[in-house]
Amino acid sequence: MTSSAYSREIVLDKMTQLNLDLLIIGGGITGAGIALDAQTRGIDTGLIEMQDFAAGTSSRSTKLVHGGLRYLKNLEFKMVAEVGRERAIVYENAPHVTTPVRMMLPFYKGGTFGSFTTSIGLSIYDRLAGVKKAERRTMLGAKETRKKEPILAGKNLRGAGMYVEYRTDDARLTLEVAKTAAEKGALLANYVKAESFIYDNGKVIGVVARDMITDKAINIYAKKIVNATGPWVDHLREQDRSKTGKTILLSKGVHVVLSKKRLPLQQAVYFDTPFKDGRMMFAIPRGDKVYVGTTESNYDGDPREPGVTADDIDYIVKATNAMFPGYHIAADDVESSWSGLRPLIHEEGKDPTDISRKDEIFHSASGLMTIAGGKLTGYRKMADSIVTLVAQELEKETGVKYKNCQTKNLVLSGGDVGGSQELKSFNETFVRAGMKLGLDGKTSRELVERYGSNVSQVFTYLDDDEAEQFQLPKAVWASLRYALEYEMALTPVDFLLRRTSYMLFDIDKARENKNAVVEAMSEKLHWSEEEKTKRIAELNDMWKIMIPDQ
Ligand code: FAD
Repeated sequence: MTSSAYSREIVLDKMTQLNLDLLIIGGGITGAGIALDAQTRGIDTGLIEMQDFAAGTSSRSTKLVHGGLRYLKNLEFKMVAEVGRERAIVYENAPHVTTPVRMMLPFYKGGTFGSFTTSIGLSIYDRLAGVKKAERRTMLGAKETRKKEPILAGKNLRGAGMYVEYRTDDARLTLEVAKTAAEKGALLANYVKAESFIYDNGKVIGVVARDMITDKAINIYAKKIVNATGPWVDHLREQDRSKTGKTILLSKGVHVVLSKKRLPLQQAVYFDTPFKDGRMMFAIPRGDKVYVGTTESNYDGDPREPGVTADDIDYIVKATNAMFPGYHIAADDVESSWSGLRPLIHEEGKDPTDISRKDEIFHSASGLMTIAGGKLTGYRKMADSIVTLVAQELEKETGVKYKNCQTKNLVLSGGDVGGSQELKSFNETFVRAGMKLGLDGKTSRELVERYGSNVSQVFTYLDDDEAEQFQLPKAVWASLRYALEYEMALTPVDFLLRRTSYMLFDIDKARENKNAVVEAMSEKLHWSEEEKTKRIAELNDMWKIMIPDQ
């Protein structure tokens, strides 16, 4: 099947006509990973997502494919080893959305860690996580640390440990997994909400779902149903009357985006906050911007949009100024921001910072399976564990045998660049190709880095007359056409936020093109005036939440 906006209705028709082997509710990284794993084992799989793919937590993370260093602090050795292995697999299968960055871990006189403990900690981490030789930790003295990152606070600085993290684009990673699942035959549709379950003799056999675009109710039947709704898992367990025992605690985390002109950070840094709350923050350069986060606080409001408060901004700004004094960052400097919810498994009496990020599977008497917790990084392993259970149950009930997990060496959509070692030369070749097609170097690189091996398809749209017709720059039009034809983008926010990140890291481009994007999508998707008004309102609402008035 394809993941085109134009074939979404066909996908939905098929879903309603078949009795699927497996229906997944939730199109974040967890659900998308399960869809890919299941479909490639031969299980006929469908997935519905009530918003856009990755619109929940999976576009609102720190955007790191982690090696799991923080688990070391909690002595979760098994977790460090597993997450480290998974990180290497994600990198190999999707090198275009995972970029190794050297992370600096500075230490100060009187701080929690000194040179010795940092060095020992990082080398244990290297071993447990199976870190490649070239990426193992190095230690720097105070002088070298300041040379590498001159804007770091110098007072009492003793040195730094350097290790490697992998920066990603969480929403695009989710999309690439979802697209690959669709390429393998899974049926995936966004903007379809599971509203209630259908039972037969106490066993769940389907869902009544609502197409949020047409407002039509549809029934989807499946032999097995997995609840992969992240922050919403307990809502569905409640509907299934199976919310017992452990529950989900939502912990909110905010990040802000600053211009590099205001905070000229050269180097990613993982640092202690100055608040003596035992928390650490990331400051990560990305193109012309730097993003900083995260906060961590309990949340019990509507999971759809946890929002960013003045206190959230204040916390991050103060921590930034303490670590990088001399730039006097203020709330006004924040260009954009995002807020996400960690769905943590609640253990009585524990603070969110201490609760383990492990995933768990809950099996209800009705047969509904729920998977919760976990990390972006571990999505493949989580999928493996739950699909193995699904396959066992299906085998018992139908006698059909399914393959073992197939995803370890499965290259994701866009990752076909000849292996991670070849990424650099792949990128250079295609950046030049884009320039020959009339793009400037920066824009060509932006497209190549965003789309990986799918960039050749995007390039074929550069010559379209429609760019001029819709008054969009060629590269923006080509990205939009690709988002419509291959990535099921249905709204301007889907495109400007999750397909391109313009609303996070290129506000000017988002601002300059948003009206033209609305016009182009309206024409391509045949919106009524009413629908167009709705989409514009959605965009304006999201803009207000993320982007302060300037
Ligand atoms: P979600 O992405 O929330 O997906 C669930 C989906 O279900 C949603 O899209 C929702 O719309 C949909 N849904 C809900 N109800 C219904 C319904 N009735 N019908 C249909 N669909 C429905 N992990 C890392 O590995 N690295 C990091 O750097 C990192 N940083 C983080 C920073 C923060 C601030 C936070 C909050 C998390 C971070 N994580 C990180 C964790 C990671 O982001 C999450 O574990 C992961 O994204 C959860 O994905 P999910 O698919 O389970 O949930």
